[in-house]
Amino acid sequence: MHEREAHKVSARVDAPSRRAICVQGIVQGVGFRPFVYRLAIRHRLAGFVRNETGGVAIEVEGEDRSIDEFARDLESAPPPNARIGRISCEPRPPSGERGFTIVPSLARPEAPSICPDTATCEECLCEILDPADRRFGYAFTNCTNCGPRFTVVAGAPYDRERTSMRAFPLCPPCRAEYEDPEDRRYHAEATACPDCGPRLGMAPAVAGRQILEGRILAVKGLGGFHLACDAGNDEAVRELRRRKGRDEKPFAVMVGDLAAARALCEMSDPEEQLLAAPQRPIVLLRRRADAPVAEAVASGNPLLGLMLPYTPLHHLLMAAVGGKPLVMTSGNVSDEPIAYRDEDALRDLGKIADSFLSHDREILTRCDDSVARVVGGEPLVLRRSRGCAPAPLKLPFRCASPTLALGGALKAVFALGRGEEAILSHHLGDLEHYEAWRAYVSSIELYEKLFQFSPEVVVHDLHPDYPSTRYALEREGVRRIAVQHHHAHMAACMAENGITEPVIGVTFDGTGYGTDGTIWGGEFLVGDHGSFRRAAHFEDVPMPGGEAAIREPWRMAVAYLARAGESPDLLEGRIPSKSLEVVRRLKSPRTSSCGRLFDAVSSLLGIRDRVSYEGQAAIELEWLARTSAARGAYPVEVSGDGVVRVGPVISGLLADLRRGAPRADLARRFHSTIVEAIRRVCVLLRAETGLDRVVLSGGCFMNEIVLTGALEALRREDFRVYRHRLVPPNDGGICLGQLAVAAAQGG
Ligand code: ZN
Ligand code: ZN
Ligand code: FE
Repeated sequence: MHEREAHKVSARVDAPSRRAICVQGIVQGVGFRPFVYRLAIRHRLAGFVRNETGGVAIEVEGEDRSIDEFARDLESAPPPNARIGRISCEPRPPSGERGFTIVPSLARPEAPSICPDTATCEECLCEILDPADRRFGYAFTNCTNCGPRFTVVAGAPYDRERTSMRAFPLCPPCRAEYEDPEDRRYHAEATACPDCGPRLGMAPAVAGRQILEGRILAVKGLGGFHLACDAGNDEAVRELRRRKGRDEKPFAVMVGDLAAARALCEMSDPEEQLLAAPQRPIVLLRRRADAPVAEAVASGNPLLGLMLPYTPLHHLLMAAVGGKPLVMTSGNVSDEPIAYRDEDALRDLGKIADSFLSHDREILTRCDDSVARVVGGEPLVLRRSRGCAPAPLKLPFRCASPTLALGGALKAVFALGRGEEAILSHHLGDLEHYEAWRAYVSSIELYEKLFQFSPEVVVHDLHPDYPSTRYALEREGVRRIAVQHHHAHMAACMAENGITEPVIGVTFDGTGYGTDGTIWGGEFLVGDHGSFRRAAHFEDVPMPGGEAAIREPWRMAVAYLARAGESPDLLEGRIPSKSLEVVRRLKSPRTSSCGRLFDAVSSLLGIRDRVSYEGQAAIELEWLARTSAARGAYPVEVSGDGVVRVGPVISGLLADLRRGAPRADLARRFHSTIVEAIRRVCVLLRAETGLDRVVLSGGCFMNEIVLTGALEALRREDFRVYRHRLVPPNDGGICLGQLAVAAAQGG
């Protein structure tokens, strides 16, 4: 600073101007400051750049035209992983400064941001594959554009001292790169090389050979351990299922590159883009009939979950197996959360894996793979986790005070609201599992520390028994807001589409606590973020034995048969008649759930009477429906008070069944019936309210036939229809809606 005075003496004749530019968004930990530095040098500007609260602060001085060009380039060509939220610009008095500098971060920014982990970039991959490069074959190569972030962070602001890389002091060549503003690794906090960085416990070549011999390996990744085996080896895949205690849930498969993916699955352009995105989600794709993967990978499933390598170790492993597809499934026992600590992995996965491909870089936070698919030509996130969290989303309203939204119970995700930013956590699983519950509570603590966040408002589901609700009630010194489950779904879809006007909210899912104490799930709401009313809904039926009916869809079949005035004889032979009798006399909660209706139909068609994972019955019903192009639907009757009758639907289905029509046609017609019910009720509600915006949310909109069918049917009726893209339609997205509702209500 003291030099500035000296330069003033030799101020230039063509009076320079100076501007302060503030850039907000994901601009820390993505190589933004070196990018600004190079840009300033190119445009011959003086000044500085510095990390600040939620962004970077820049001051540039020079000719006006150069500053304009600089600002334009800043916006139009930022580094690949940066996301510019907002740019503001203000004039400043010129200081006569010469040269451009990167000024150290302020020690304690008030609202730090943390980047998601990012897949290995092209430049790093080239180095790993180049025998002449000092990082040739090095499994921990990364730079400012790629590598581990969220999963290695222990505190804020983001620098090496507060990551698990602190255990690896930089060697002189790495240090030189780290300090050189012209270098791609300038301030790359996780940078490393074979001389100074983490090491593998086993050579990738050895690991690859073992996999090709049919063995099962535990592989330490970014957010946890995977269990890997040869996806083409039926025996190995079966053995993995047996040891893991996972009977039917499909396994994800890793392929080396897009060409290898094309050999397994049919892909559209948006699907290829999604698969290759830096977040590297698992993408559900249409599997080719001749795909060279074992049947046991995803038995009977027309889709296959593929992902591309996202760490150097993955690239090296894929090379070692000659590009053969590998099963890469979460390293856990059955439904437990993915193992991420070395000692836990050794204990839990030691019984499953034959050997370990591990390393000595600690994973500080468990983070499951994200899952997505393309529906209607656009991405639909089903699980927003590794690679996505904790990047912020934008809220349609400002949170007046720091707000913590706790989400639901299944597919738990919580969110921090600060200003217009919503920071959604990674996926935390089913809170009824003790391990998941512990991870949930400790993750809230972690996020509060990382983001230096102390909530004044907590938002929770209306359900009194959700673990997340109990957490909210036990939290002291905060104001509490309860949000009805389906209102939160609707609000989440509105928030991600930036809608604040009143809408018709079609929210179909498995379970959500209603304002009348019954279980909702086939709901047509009318309202906005501030308030809603239940304008229409599916007819409710008993849910025989409560929760047990979720695991045993045949119970729902009995309930819907009774509603249609039919006897349960149909199920005889599969279900003991004594059970059928008992179930009809059970005292049971009532539900209008669309998910349970899918379950019942799945059972009636003989697809699934019992499930081994959530949603299985409905998912397999969709598989069957995909194989039919049958036209027509079952009768949709809506009563004057907005109740969609289910009896006629079941009767229509049974008539088809008795005629001996192919079951696939019945499955297709049932899907068409749901779509027709959506269309019919929305038309009625538009006539009543004048509203023409419809949002589609809830777990049932993960179903491709229902989502694309509803989009088409409603657009044909000239509705403005909105769907999810960025957050899951399932309960993984409701925390966003909870935040938006709280913010709109002035929370
Ligand atoms: Zn890189
Ligand atoms: Zn080094
Ligand atoms: Fe839900």
